[in-house]
Amino acid sequence: MHDIGIYGLGVMGENLALRAHDVGLSVAVFNRTKDKAFALAARVGSPRFQAFADPASLVASLRRPRLLLLMVTAGPATDAAFEAVLPFLEEGDVLVDGGNAHYEDTLRREARAREARVAYIGMGISGGELGARTGPALMPGGDAEAYARIAPRLEALAARLPDGRPAVALVGKGAAGHYVKMVHNGIEYVFLQLLAEAYDALRNVYGYTSVELADAFARANQGPWESYLIGLVREILTVPDPETSQPLVEQILDVAEGKGTGLWTAEEALRLGTGGSTFGAAVHARNLSRERDLRLACAEACGEPWRRPEAVLAYETWRDALHAAVLVAYAEGFALLRRAPETYDFAVDLANVARVWQSGAIVRIRLLADLERHLRQTPEIPHPLLFPEIWQLVREREGALRNFAAWAVRTGLPAPAHLAALADLDGLRRRRLPANLIQAARDAFGAHTYRRIDREGNFHTSWPDPE
Ligand code: NAP
Repeated sequence: MHDIGIYGLGVMGENLALRAHDVGLSVAVFNRTKDKAFALAARVGSPRFQAFADPASLVASLRRPRLLLLMVTAGPATDAAFEAVLPFLEEGDVLVDGGNAHYEDTLRREARAREARVAYIGMGISGGELGARTGPALMPGGDAEAYARIAPRLEALAARLPDGRPAVALVGKGAAGHYVKMVHNGIEYVFLQLLAEAYDALRNVYGYTSVELADAFARANQGPWESYLIGLVREILTVPDPETSQPLVEQILDVAEGKGTGLWTAEEALRLGTGGSTFGAAVHARNLSRERDLRLACAEACGEPWRRPEAVLAYETWRDALHAAVLVAYAEGFALLRRAPETYDFAVDLANVARVWQSGAIVRIRLLADLERHLRQTPEIPHPLLFPEIWQLVREREGALRNFAAWAVRTGLPAPAHLAALADLDGLRRRRLPANLIQAARDAFGAHTYRRIDREGNFHTSWPDPE
């Protein structure tokens, strides 16, 4: 009898299956294209790794309580896989969806699984291909008792934190796991956009060589900001193109794709009414990159925006601005997660999120260790910037972020994620915003009423007509 079944052997499923085998689990696999499953089992050549030709025999091969992981394309493919296995699962079994499902789909499937008395766990998985192979971060959401039945197997699969804990913990019930993965990807979008803007400044304005660029990112990859993504950019900058011997990154078309999870996060920030404009800025920036023909036409007709700045900024200003903006993006992600239960029937365990993201995850960054500690001590705090130690990290860099943003604007360097982070930081700390003027205008043209600062109630005024 096998410990874990994996349905779907694409990039992620195959690597997770190999990882499960490596950590001592006995693995059963199935894939729509069956040859792939049998070829993989033949390659592994172990009695603890077996391929099956149909969902029924895959399920029957699993020890109870069964753990069956779906690793297929999100959307209709997940529905197809879900319907293919559900009839064979029994009470007590746990069906886990490790794909990037939209949380609303997860809520729908969970209800359907519940009718069949099968536990359903929507689980975000982070770490990409390499993480899946060497230890991913796992974000399961769902029923606590069902999770407890499979926890030891998931703990074996997950990456380890420096303190030895596994990078897996229940992050909430219902669709919390997929909701957390969505926000993870939103943060990833912002982080990458911030890194791209920082690279743009050094490469195209400071005139750094590729060696200097790699060194700048290496030096920025320190202390609380020591992270997978800054380290990755540093490595990317050192890779030459075998054909031209130029840095490979310079040969890559400037058109950024995505699979939509960043957009979901931006939509969610808008829907729930949290600040979070960095998510939208990152999505807009990718969209604009895809408007390449239009950009080329506008550059031709209207001229490029470059204006030589009076002076480039100190390296430390560039670095501190990046650090401050990155921290704001994480703070916005956690603030969004905190708001989820106001709208949905699940709360997110923020401390467990900060724990799970510390290792294996694409968004892993050292400052999450501090954030986890604060969140365990004061879980009810509404925004991470209200933790004095976290605010101190931003406060010390606020001036740099402001200088970098102002410099980018003067230079004609588009830096939407840095600017959005700064605008959120400023707006969040204003005792009084100019929304009073908006309310007055809404009341003037639409009789929408307004509230007063000095007494309760809704008021309407006959405002003068400008015409
Ligand atoms: P992938 O390489 O494209 O593999 C897709 C898998 O889904 C294949 O096994 C494919 O089977 C199967 N599939 C597609 N349509 C199907 C259908 N209608 N019925 C049954 N099976 C079907 O994708 P991946 O990168 O492994 O990603 C799998 C899931 O993990 C996705 O939801 C993705 O969003 C999520 N994810 C990906 C990453 C990443 O870095 N790639 C990270 C975390 C999560 P065939 O071999 O027969 O085509």
